[in-house]
This record gives sequence, C-alpha cells and structure tokens, in this order.
Amino acid sequence: MTKAISYAAVSAKEKLAPFQFERREVGAKDIQIEILFCGVCHSDLHTARNEWQNSVYPVIPGHEIVGRVTSVGADVKAFKVGDLAGVGCLVDSCGVCEDCKDGLEQYCDQEVFTYNSPDKHTGKMTYGGYSNQIVVDEHFVLHISEKLDLAAVAPLLCAGITTYSPLKHWKVGPGSKVGVVGLGGLGHMAVKLAHAMGAHVVLFTTSSNKVADAKRLGADEVVISKNPDEMKAHLKSFDFILNTVAAAHNLDVFTELLKRDGTMCLNGVPEHAHPSPNIGSLIFKRRQIAGSLIGGIKETQEMLDFCAKHNITSDIEVIAIQDVNEAYERMIKGDVKYRFVIDMATLKD
Ligand SMILES: [Zn+2]
Ligand SMILES: [Zn+2]
Repeated sequence: MTKAISYAAVSAKEKLAPFQFERREVGAKDIQIEILFCGVCHSDLHTARNEWQNSVYPVIPGHEIVGRVTSVGADVKAFKVGDLAGVGCLVDSCGVCEDCKDGLEQYCDQEVFTYNSPDKHTGKMTYGGYSNQIVVDEHFVLHISEKLDLAAVAPLLCAGITTYSPLKHWKVGPGSKVGVVGLGGLGHMAVKLAHAMGAHVVLFTTSSNKVADAKRLGADEVVISKNPDEMKAHLKSFDFILNTVAAAHNLDVFTELLKRDGTMCLNGVPEHAHPSPNIGSLIFKRRQIAGSLIGGIKETQEMLDFCAKHNITSDIEVIAIQDVNEAYERMIKGDVKYRFVIDMATLKD
C-alpha cells in the first residue's frame, strides 16, 4: 500500500476536510496516476452528503480525473510513465458479461464506480479523485491529448461522455434537429458536442439571461421553455431531445416537440419522480422517452479523441481544494459556468 492524501467527507453532516488513506500497490495491469486536476460533479455532492442513502464513509469523491502516469505494472502495454491519463466514473467491471463484451461497462451489473463502490482489490470502498494519486486497471484508463487545456478536459470524463453517448446512440449528425434541455454542467457540453456533430441545436432554458451564453457555446436557437408561444413554434419538429434537468418537471411540454419516432433521452435522476408522461402523446406519434448512463470505456476514448479533434473542452472555474465546500454551495445555486475543477497542486500534506 502507498500513502495518499485527499479531501474526504467522514459523515453526511461534516464538510470535506483533509484525509490520509492508502492506495493499493501497482499490480501487473495497473497504472498509477499523479492527479493534476479533478472536476466537481453533482454526484460528488450527493454522495458526500448521503443524498442517495448509499454512502459508506469516508467518502472521497471525484470522477473527472486527469493527471500523469507515475508508474505502470509489468503487463501494461498502452501507457508509459510521463503520459497524460484520465479516469472517469468507472474503475472496474466483470469483463465477461454481454454488456462488458459490447464495451458498455457502465451497464454491467458488477460495475465498480470510481468512488463509494466496493473495491475488489482492497475489500474497502473505492476512493475518488479529490486526492493526489490513484491506481487503476489499465482497461479503465483513458488517453488524454496534450493539445487541450488539461484542467478543462477533466469534466469531459463525466459530463462529456454522459452527453456524447446518447447523442451518438441516437445518431445525431448533420441534418438532425436536436434539443438540449437545461444549461448546466451537462447541458453546456451537450450543446458544444451536438453543434460539433453538425446538428441544428436548440437550447431550452427557463432563464432569459442564459440566451447569449447558449449561443456562444454553439446553440443555433434558444427557447425560453416557460413561454408557451415560443414552445409552440417547435411542435413536432425534433429528431432528438437530450434532457439534462435533474429536477422533477412536466415532460409532456418537450415530448410534444418531437417528430414521429423522435426520442427524448433523460440524463438526470430527480429526487422526486417526474409527473407521469401523457401516454397518448407518445402513442400517436410513436415517440419514446429513454434514459442513458455515462458511456463505456471505448466510447469515452472516442469522445476524448473527438473533443481533441474539434478543440472542445468544458467551460470551467478552477478552484483550490480548500474551496470545495464553498463550491458545493455555489453549485446548488447554479452559480458556476459551467464546471468547477480542483487544481490538485493545492492539496498539501
Ligand atoms: Zn459525474
Ligand atoms: Zn460485466
């Protein structure tokens, strides 16, 4: 075991604070990464505060990890010391089920998340990226381009792949009319990615002060979703809508904007259920409401390569790790454009 330092939550009620722990030794297939930056995802906050009632303390959050390889196991082929490397939401899976064989490890029943998951190697829980180093099986480590701003790449590992995967699955491309609901960490990535894929992108927001920013990020049109007349102008016109809003809301106002056979995919898991959708609106146009979870490892690499090619990163605010508790409070208020990223050089013994 090697010593590591971090910021951790030791209970649901306490703020994150410095915490020492141990990482496993580097095994034959393992890669050890010095973490340089880690994005701050809403899931981090939910888990640190046990809002999903499944947290096992201490919780060391963080699954938008980028850094440099400091050690590789004897059997590691694809990485060498000094390479940039990334780790997203997954660090292990069974490797043999249909989902794993299809490169869709995120749907494996035995997936191991980067933090707060039982860790087969240590018998403890997995500990995430708010730390100085991590040891991960080579299969779950991503190659990161040297040409992009490294801090701004970090959020691609969760927010980027979570939006890229459904856009690809539902074949968004030139000629598609795509809606994105919500302009937060996920929504701003969805706008950038769908725009780069060649789609006509319409951003739905409730706040008129986001219009200019949405257009800057790549939206062709912005619709204020609480204005019925603006919504009506788009009836039956969308091939696909990616709904990133994690609060319960009326889904019908969006499904009615789908063409026949159109799909609205949900990315957010609301604390309270959405009101039941109007089934008639689905039946009479063969519309679908779907869901999607992050993305597999192969697709995450594809997304990172796509972003390097198209010069896409997240819009970020870099913070010191000592400011992470304040960042959580600001994130709850939506006061971030559009992702906090922790500069791990600020983490000291
Ligand atoms: Zn996340
Ligand atoms: Zn599996």
